Amino acid sequence: MSQDCIFCKIVKGDIPSNKIYEDDELIAFHDIHPIAPVHFLIVPKRHIESLLTCEAQHQALLGKIMLLAPKLAMEQGLKGFRSMINTGREGGQEVFHLHVHVFGGGETLPRT
Ligand code: 5GP
Ligand code: ZN
Repeated sequence: MSQDCIFCKIVKGDIPSNKIYEDDELIAFHDIHPIAPVHFLIVPKRHIESLLTCEAQHQALLGKIMLLAPKLAMEQGLKGFRSMINTGREGGQEVFHLHVHVFGGGETLPRT
């Protein structure tokens, strides 16, 4: 738990979220500002700042996130989706608690 981290507060339940999945290591909830008809975030419960601070010990957790993405996407009614990880300020990261965006629905997403 990192103080002042918005996703740690969501994990703790101090800030409400529209949760779609939870287990002992991960939580997934809808993004508050969706960029597609379906847009959710998969977030490790443990505070990890970004991909830049991931190490070999996080390998299984990262794999678990990637395998969860299609499962939840299908549950949300998507037939395809885009996944995105913003890393570092230059990578467009705004919340410095690792998360994978999963979004889709509606029109086919543009190529980039
Ligand atoms: P980043 O740019 O760090 O990859 O994206 C952070 C994402 O978190 C943004 O898409 C933003 O809309 C979402 N977000 C920020 N604060 C909250 C919040 O309090 N609740 C939810 N559900 N999403 C949030
Ligand atoms: Zn955090």
